[in-house]
Amino acid sequence: MNLDSSPIAAIATAPGRGGIGVVRISGKNISSIIDAVCAMHGKPLQARHATLVDFVRADGSVIDRGLAIHFKAPHSYTGEDVLELQGHGGPVVLQMLLQRCLEAGAEIGLRLAEPGEFTRRAFLNDKLDLAQAEAVADLIEASTEAAARSASQSLSGAFSKTVQELVDRITNLRMLVEATLDFPEEEIDFLEQSDARGQLAGIREALTAVFTQAAQGALLREGLNIVLAGQPNVGKSSLLNALAGNDVAIVTPIAGTTRDKVIETIQVEGIPINVIDTAGIRTVEEAVDEVERIGIERTWAAVQKADVIIHMLDAARGPTREDEQICARFPESIPVIRIWNKIDLSGHNPSVDRMPDATHIYLSAAELAGMDLLRQELLRLIGWQQTGESLYLARERHLIALKSAHDHLELAAQHAAHDSEATHPALDLFAEELRLAQDRLSSITGEFTSDDLLGVIFSRFCIGK
Ligand code: GDP
Ligand code: ZN
Repeated sequence: MNLDSSPIAAIATAPGRGGIGVVRISGKNISSIIDAVCAMHGKPLQARHATLVDFVRADGSVIDRGLAIHFKAPHSYTGEDVLELQGHGGPVVLQMLLQRCLEAGAEIGLRLAEPGEFTRRAFLNDKLDLAQAEAVADLIEASTEAAARSASQSLSGAFSKTVQELVDRITNLRMLVEATLDFPEEEIDFLEQSDARGQLAGIREALTAVFTQAAQGALLREGLNIVLAGQPNVGKSSLLNALAGNDVAIVTPIAGTTRDKVIETIQVEGIPINVIDTAGIRTVEEAVDEVERIGIERTWAAVQKADVIIHMLDAARGPTREDEQICARFPESIPVIRIWNKIDLSGHNPSVDRMPDATHIYLSAAELAGMDLLRQELLRLIGWQQTGESLYLARERHLIALKSAHDHLELAAQHAAHDSEATHPALDLFAEELRLAQDRLSSITGEFTSDDLLGVIFSRFCIGK
């Protein structure tokens, strides 16, 4: 493997202020940086021991005082020599410390790390397999406890182990088949004696179970994107509070927006639900200035990407002209849940009514009547089934690989099923489909991975990870 082990550095802790902040360095020849930056008062750094030191400039003046830890290769996160400098968690002091390290490391070619580069090196040095490396990013990004639990499972290798067990079972079967290929007269007996069909059926069943766990787990990762539309005072905020229950909604600004459009993430049964509140959603023509026009365009772009639109109305008042205009602009491909709120005032009973235009739900957000009908409808929309089994926080890439492996095993079964009286079972084709299934599964843990795929996966990490 063509591994670049030139030294890299980055601030590993999140931007902003905190109790401590960490500058991490990994690669070859980093001892010279330790000597230059850490004033150790005569005590050398002992591997994997925290030592209190002064972080100093070239002239000896002190930048900060903190802990230095030297992890010697291969006993480190990346598998290379790693130096961690834990200073105080302020953006300026950390930036000064990073700059000082880059200056001290200039002669050994120390440079800033790219996003995900530490974890990429950990993968290339066999510290983690690819599914585990992806789980690192997923754990950091998890927005619900259930998602974090599943990511942590994958990080510990549970998903990789399950996939590897499938690969091993397929390999064993393949070896049996290929041993027989050289003796054509024995092919027919082989299928019976080795119970190849029975073994294949068992593998297919296990693969289907993994796929189900992974597909459900993917829902924990992706969640559901909801656009919440409706006129002022129909009860949108009340609905969010009622849905979130005791959970504190996580509010994140949409990247790059100039106005205060926010996505709130709440959870229903541990599934993140990202709600884009389109308060009084206007049209571009109504914009008063350029800034607002851009904001409105972004809002409508978000509407296009939603999994479901919740359009909220006042059951006592009925739709307004603005409601009709907004409805006309909803993309037809996105399902709509029309919520008729305030049934305590209108006298309706809580109910769900699936109509061609939309699913109509009558509820009261303030009185918490009919809220479960809405929760169930949201879970139904994304295909959530409670399995009670532990879930793997799978990515789209994993699901595609599992599905493809499943398809190849199905073809294998067809080749094995040929009527042995009339034609030979196509054992060579049987073996070939097994090989393809095995390849697809191996791509999950990254045994054979192209640089392009690695680039795509690791570029989405944050810097310093
Ligand atoms: P928003 O502007 O759409 O976010 O609406 P709010 O959630 O702020 O609610 C507007 C007003 O309607 C508030 O006074 C709420 O207490 C009230 N409200 C919300 N839901 C209900 C409901 O189900 N029944 C009744 N009677 N009032 C409600
Ligand atoms: Zn509101």
